[in-house]
Amino acid sequence: MSAEESNENAGTLYVVATPIGNLADIGARAIEILGAVDLIAAEDTRHTAGLLSHLGLKKPLLSLHTYNESSRSGRILAVLAEGRSVALVSDAGTPLISDPGYPLVRAAREAGFRVSPVPGPSALVAALSVSGLPCDRFVFEGFLPAKAGPRRARLEALVAEPRTLVFYESPHRIEATIEAMAQVMGAGREAVLLRELTKTFEQIQAAPLAAMRQWLVADPDHRRGEFVIVLAGAEMETLGQVQQRELLAVLLDYLSVKEAAAAAARLTGAPKRTLYQLAVEMKG
Ligand code: SAM
Repeated sequence: MSAEESNENAGTLYVVATPIGNLADIGARAIEILGAVDLIAAEDTRHTAGLLSHLGLKKPLLSLHTYNESSRSGRILAVLAEGRSVALVSDAGTPLISDPGYPLVRAAREAGFRVSPVPGPSALVAALSVSGLPCDRFVFEGFLPAKAGPRRARLEALVAEPRTLVFYESPHRIEATIEAMAQVMGAGREAVLLRELTKTFEQIQAAPLAAMRQWLVADPDHRRGEFVIVLAGAEMETLGQVQQRELLAVLLDYLSVKEAAAAAARLTGAPKRTLYQLAVEMKG
């Protein structure tokens, strides 16, 4: 007997997307499922209680966040095993997308319970769909590391990626992240900043990274709220430059700008002057 058959009388775990700002974006099926389940596992129960009250619903809530999700999963599986259904929601958008839920979904599927999506908003797809950058292939990176060193290393690993890149970012780090992107990916790389999507102050700004940095600095309001950053992928003809950039990034850890440019010129055969300008730009 398969795990699925052994759980045929069990409840279903529904993974339910909720709005990313505008409450009118809640789906009709999401409302139906939230009203029908026996329990709602929520990232922040107070936040979800607000959404439920807006929908005129009242349901038992159980908190499931980053710090307790592994331990809570067992309790939720026990509820499913009793034949009761559970909805998993996060504070905004689609659960598991830079949000809690992965250990629960994994454990529920491994135990043979039915796990069913109730799709809806996600900042990732909303941002991509209006970015004006290619959406046929893309890479979702979620949040970059908070510390400067690991963040830079992550960006360096992505510098030659030809697909469109999508990142999430908080208001505290947006300026530092755009600055790091300009240094690593190049000042001219095309970027789209999507701020407060579906909310009153929704703003979509497209500019090369250097100009985007200036735009952010120009007005504190530009740095408020929630952000998605969509970056153009590396163009094939710039891959040579990308390799120069990667090489310079390493050399600049040990040498002055002038020495690094000279060493890179010897190693690649590219003009020293070009590499010097690139190294100055990368040093910021
Ligand atoms: N699970 C969510 C989803 O499906 O989009 C993402 C949760 S993650 C913890 C929160 C991040 O998503 C924010 O820091 C921001 O980068 C992005 N985000 C969420 N809502 C947004 C909005 N209305 N406008 C722009 N970015 C948003």
